[in-house]
Amino acid sequence: MDGLSGLDEPNEPDERNELRVLNQLDEPGGPPGGLGELDERITGCRACPRLVDWREEVARTKRAAFADWTYWGRPVPGFGPHDASLLLIGLAPAAHGANRTGRMFTGDRSGEFLYPALYDVGLASRPTAVSADDGLTLYGTRITSPVHCAPPENKPTTGERDTCRSWLVSELKLLAPTLRAVVVLGGFGWQAALPAFAAAGWRVPKPRPAFGHGARVTLEGGPGQEALDVFGCFHVSQRNTFTGRLTPGMLRDVLSAAAFEAGLYPDGPPGRAEAGAGS
Ligand code: SF4
Repeated sequence: MDGLSGLDEPNEPDERNELRVLNQLDEPGGPPGGLGELDERITGCRACPRLVDWREEVARTKRAAFADWTYWGRPVPGFGPHDASLLLIGLAPAAHGANRTGRMFTGDRSGEFLYPALYDVGLASRPTAVSADDGLTLYGTRITSPVHCAPPENKPTTGERDTCRSWLVSELKLLAPTLRAVVVLGGFGWQAALPAFAAAGWRVPKPRPAFGHGARVTLEGGPGQEALDVFGCFHVSQRNTFTGRLTPGMLRDVLSAAAFEAGLYPDGPPGRAEAGAGS
C-alpha cells in the first residue's frame, strides 16, 4: 500500500457494478456462512472492470524482484479473527504487496511500518508480514479495506470505492456483535467508512465528522447494537512515514487507545516501554 493517496475526482458510481456486488452478497446481512464465506466471495469479485484488468495485468507482468512469485492477482479479503473487537480500515491493496501475497498490508512498505506497531502494542504475534503463510496472527484485531482490489497508481476512483462499499457494509454487520472500535487509516478510508458504518446500523452524526490524525468519534449503535469508537490515523503510506508525518509512536498511540476502548487491554493499556517507545 505504498504511497496511497486516494482520488477525490468526481466519479459517478456505476450502478451496474454495484449490482454485481449485491448479487454476490445474496443477502443484505451477509452470507449465511459468516465472514469466512464473505471473504471467499470477495476473492471472486469482478465487479470493477478497470481494477480487474489492472490487478491481473500486474500479476502477469510482475515486478522483477518478485519474478519467482505467483501473484495473488485477485481481491484481497479482510485478515484477522472473525470475532475481532478492533478493526483497521486502510485504503486498497498495493500492486506488488497484497496483490502479490493475498493478505492485507503483507509484503509492502506500509506493512513494514504497520505490523511492528501492532506487535509493539500486543495486537500481532510477530512484527513482520512477508507472505500469507508466514504464521502471523492478529489478536482481537482485523484489517480490511474499503477497496479490495489493487488500483492503478494506488488511486481507486470514488466510483470504485462506492461499488466496493457493500462488501465493507456486510463485513461490518458480521463483525458487529463483537466490534467496539475502529481505526481508519487516511482520509479516503474515512470518507469510505462513515457511510458504511451508517449502512451497517450505527448512527453517524450530520454533518459527518472530519478526518484528522487523532480524530475520534463515538457512534451510537442501532437497536441492539453496541456503540463504536472510531479513531482517525494518518495512512501508513510511504508519503507519510518517510516524511515523518506519521511516526511509529503516533501510530502506536492510536492503536493502543483504540485497543483499550475495544476491551483488548483488560488491565489497562501497555506502558510506553512495553509499547516499544523510542524506536
Ligand atoms: S474493488 Fe471491490 S467491488 Fe471492485 S472488483 Fe474489487 S472486490 Fe469487487
